[in-house]
Parts: sequence; C-alpha cells; structure tokens
Amino acid sequence: MRTPMVAGNWKMNMTVEGARGLVFSMSAPLRELKGVEVVLCPPFTCLQAVHALLEGSDIGLGAQNMYWEEKGAFTGEVSPMMVKELCGYVILGHSERRTRFGETDETVNRRLLAARKADLTPIFCVGETLEEYESQRTSEVVRRQIARGLAGLDSVFAPRVVVAYEPVWAIGTGKASTGENANGVVQRDIRAGLAELFGKPTADAIRVLYGGSVTSTNAAEFFSQEGIDGALVGGASLKADDFIGIARAAASG
Ligand code: PEP
Repeated sequence: MRTPMVAGNWKMNMTVEGARGLVFSMSAPLRELKGVEVVLCPPFTCLQAVHALLEGSDIGLGAQNMYWEEKGAFTGEVSPMMVKELCGYVILGHSERRTRFGETDETVNRRLLAARKADLTPIFCVGETLEEYESQRTSEVVRRQIARGLAGLDSVFAPRVVVAYEPVWAIGTGKASTGENANGVVQRDIRAGLAELFGKPTADAIRVLYGGSVTSTNAAEFFSQEGIDGALVGGASLKADDFIGIARAAASG
C-alpha cells in the first residue's frame, strides 16, 4: 500500500508574514486528515517560520531545490545539510529548474544522490515539454529522465523517492492532463522505467504523483487512477481552500 501524498510547491511566492497567514488558515483542517502525507514547500526564506508553525504536526516541510556540495564557495546556493536542519523533503528536477536555470538530468542526479546522503526524501520531477508531447516523444523523454535522474541510486533508498509526473504543458497553464493520459504515462513509462532500475517490487512501492494545474475540482480524477498516488500542486497550494480540498480528495480516495 502506498500512502498518498499531496505536496504544495509555493514557488517564488510569499513573504514570511504571508506564509504565516497561509499556514495558519490551513493547518487545522490539514492536521485532521488521515491517510495522506501532506508536505508544504515554501521558499527558503519562509522555511524557518513555517517550520515553527508546523512543529508537533504530521505536516511535512520541503525545500524547492538544493545544491549537491556540502559547503564552500557557492554563492547563493543552499546545501543538503542546511535543508536538513529544517526539512524532511526536497523537490528536485522541477521543470522550471530544468528549463529556466539550465539543470540537466546529470545535475539533477547529483542533487538526488546528495539528498540520499543527507537522508532527505526527494520529490523528483519528470515530464515532457509541449513540443515533445506534440511530437509524441513523451515516453522517450520521461524514460530518459527516470534512467539518468535516478542512476546510481541504491534499491534500499529507492522506495523513499517520490516521483512527480508533471507534463510541462500542464504546469501553471490551467490545462491539466486527463487522469487517463497521466496514468498511461505513469504506468507505461515511469513504473516500467523504475522497474528496470530497481526491480518490480521496489518500483511498485515508489509513489508517483501527478502535477500540472491540479485543483480541488479535478484532483479526484487523478487520484482515482491506479498508478497515481497524489499530487504536486503549484498555484492551488497558495489558496487555502483549494489545497485543503485537494488533500481531502487524496485522503478519501
Ligand atoms: C508545479 O509547479 O509543480 C505545478 C504543478 O504547478 P501548477 O499546479 O500551478 O500547475
């Protein structure tokens, strides 16, 4: 049995004061939910404030990225141990990091192996661009991202990894994929790719989320799919009611 997860990626939004207000308005209903792992991923500058508010709850805290080196002359970067001081999770390989900040399968892989070393749970994102989707290269792209991004990872840690299938054309566009289409990619490409790396029993234990314009209105369609274990949520994670609705749909689905 895979425990569903709903993770909120706040991206580059929220001041500390705004973050406190958002957590304050969501935490009571989120704390009551059973059978779903909820994770909030605010920007680095808000982590400490959100960490303090979540103390004593089961709601997890994640960073949106990190560098792989332990310390040193890397101006502007944040190390795995810095993240680990406050967080249990880290988003890696988000398409905005890949397309806007030049991250590659290889640099994502270095971050992933560093997360393993720091005992952080990675939320590892894969997904094809619109152009790749339209030229029917989804399988090729997603399989490559899985094979290269998770290369060298041992099968003891592998079940801890959470994969997020996020078609880039669905992120922030309001045009979500369909449950059936997303599930097809998850089963045919992601779980098959995971099985090639780690064997089928381990692949079956790994959680795979869908991400891309998930709202409280369409969440249930994704959560009813056999291969989908929750959602990575961007825009809707900034709206308390929407995010609570998504987490509730995952808890009951
Ligand atoms: C994301 O940023 O991971 C995401 C899925 O964004 P949105 O929900 O806004 O499409």
